[in-house]
Parts: sequence; C-alpha cells; structure tokens
Amino acid sequence: MPLVNMRDMLYHAYDNNYAVGAFDLVSLDFLEAVIDAAESCRSAVILSIAEPHFAYYDFELFLPAVEAAAKRASVPVAIQLDHGSSFESAVKAINLGCNGVMLDVSDQSFSDNIDQTRAVAEMAHQCGVSVVGELGYVAGKEGEGAEQHPGETTFTLPSEAKAYVERTGVDFLAVSIGTVQGRMNGRAKLDYVRLKQLNQAVNIPLVIHGGSGLNEDQFHKLTSNGVAKIDYYTALSDVAAKAMRKRSKENPNGSFTDLKKDVKEAIGLEVQRCLRQWGSAGRAAEVLERCEPWLSVEHLIVHNVSAQPGQSVDSLMSEGKRILSQIPGVREVFTGEAMKENSKYSFCWSVRFTHKAALDSFREHQGFDAFLKKQFNSNVSDLVCIDYQEKT
Ligand SMILES: [Zn+2]
Repeated sequence: MPLVNMRDMLYHAYDNNYAVGAFDLVSLDFLEAVIDAAESCRSAVILSIAEPHFAYYDFELFLPAVEAAAKRASVPVAIQLDHGSSFESAVKAINLGCNGVMLDVSDQSFSDNIDQTRAVAEMAHQCGVSVVGELGYVAGKEGEGAEQHPGETTFTLPSEAKAYVERTGVDFLAVSIGTVQGRMNGRAKLDYVRLKQLNQAVNIPLVIHGGSGLNEDQFHKLTSNGVAKIDYYTALSDVAAKAMRKRSKENPNGSFTDLKKDVKEAIGLEVQRCLRQWGSAGRAAEVLERCEPWLSVEHLIVHNVSAQPGQSVDSLMSEGKRILSQIPGVREVFTGEAMKENSKYSFCWSVRFTHKAALDSFREHQGFDAFLKKQFNSNVSDLVCIDYQEKT
C-alpha cells in the first residue's frame, strides 16, 4: 500500500524543514538498495526514473518492478518521471504508473517553458498527479563529470519564479542556485540569499538537482530555506562503480554476478547517509499518516449487444480500446466476452485509472465522448457501469 500522493509527502517535508530524496534508478540493484535503505531508516522516499537514462534500460519493462517495490514497501513511496522531455513522455509515464512528473524544458525560453509546463500540469492534475517544473538552468549531466556539462548555469530569478509558478500551476519548483548535475571538482558555491528570496516568492516546496558532492552544512541550509526534495544520482553511480572496480581488482576473472556483488550494499549505505543528513530518516510514520494513499480505480462495464445490425462487437471493442488507451490516466483496458453462452451479460470492459481524479476527467475527453455517442450507445443494451476503488 505505501504508494502515496507525492504532493502530501513533499508538503510534510516542506512544513517540517527537511527534504525527501528522489533517487534515480538505473537497475534492479538500485531499486532494491534504495527501498531497503528507506525502510531501514524509516524514511519516505521517491523512486525516480529519469528520461535521459532510458538509453540504459527499457522503461516499460522496468516500471512494473518499481511499482511492485513501492506497493510492498513499509514506508511511504512515490514514483516520479525525472527530466521528462515532452507532453507525450509525461502521459506515457503517468499511464505506466508514475504519480509525479518533472518536465524539464528549462533550456527553452521563459515563455516556451511556461506554455509547455502549463500543458503538462493541466493534464497531470486531471490525473491526480503532481508536477515539478524547472526554471533557470542547472548545467551538467547526471552520472558524468560536471566539466563535460552542456551549457552554462543560469540562476533562477525570484521575480520570474513567481510568475512562472502562477502561470503554469506547478506543485513544486526545481531551482538553479549554483548546484551542478554530475561530478564536480571542488565544492559548489550556493546562493542562499537567492534561495530565500525564491522560497518567499513562490511559497511552494523547492527542488534541488545536482545534490551529489554537497556537504552537511550546505544541505542543512537548503532544507531550512524551502528545499523539500533533493534529486540524487551521481554519487550513487560512483559508489556502485567503485565497488565493482574493487571487486574486479581482487577477482579479475570474476563473473558478472561476482563483480556486482557489493553494489547494492554500497548504494544502500550512501542512500542511508543522505536520508539521515536531509532529516527524513525516522519520519515515515508521520508522513504516512498525512498522505493520501495512491489507489487506482476500476471502471467496470458489462452489457449485451442490441439486435440492431451494424458494427460487429469485435470492431466496437478494438476501437474503444484504442481510444481509451490514449487518454491520460488510463493504465489498462481489458475487454472480454462471457465464457458461458447463457450469461446475463455477454460483454465486459474493465478500464483501470491511475487515480480517481483521472476517472472524473476522462468522461469529458472529446474522442471518448464521440465514440460513445456515435458507436457505443447505439449498439449496446442492458448496460451496467460500476466504479471501484482499489482496496489494500
Ligand atoms: Zn537532475
């Protein structure tokens, strides 16, 4: 059950001056290590899937594992798409189970960033999903040396941030105040005056990317000035690679599983260190109490077909399935025919939505409305519709 609404989770952190870690996962070792570490520290955690990493694994295969891990966890968990590049990738991530999305179009002009982020925020909110926008540009690339970073850092302007949040409707704002994504030589210099001004201007939880390499004092200043979420990857990648290098030195002919034997432990220790340092360790129970559980909703339809000749049931169902599957928030569409011939209802549709908010908004979807009016309603009879919310 402890898959929870990310918004509630981050407001608890924001109101209590600590930050939740959002850890980018690139393999099952990362997933297991992050969940185990969060459970052993009794901390909320965000399992993060970053679009720039999709080159390393199949996102569609990986997300069901992430969701299963979240559901069986004993601490509150949210799942986010990190650095999403487009409206389409945000829809896909939501339909596959993410309950938070970050859209990163921060390299574009202020007005283009606003337009694209607003469109994603409207769509995501209709699915109950919360949204992180980014303003200002945090240079660098996760997991790489920061010197190879593309572009120069652009700091977030407090005056722009206020307008950006109002016009896009984002729930959280990722800001640029001097951190760099990737590995840095030396320590980043952070602009705390700017951070304070940003927090006062927008008054919503702030997000930091490029947390690797900061020290305890720096993290403390971040969390006491509105930072409620820290996205973290490079240091995890580095400790994992270091563990493998050490193993390969000791055992040059080691098998694959042999070489990665210490990886999980190395990642787990680093995650635990972060959760303690950022103040989220030990707070799982209070967070859970405050959070709405993230429950899917099932829209169930059973019916017969009217005697009226016309479209066959097969094409009605395949067309309906095609339209429904494209709607944001629809996770799965099952269509079926009764196995016994004399069943009271011969046909069934079961449409699973990510959250009850998505169920409320899909009825207004234009494509679906047209399908109902033109094709569905005139062909079916004895229709029964019931909505069910997941029970845990
Ligand atoms: Zn990032």
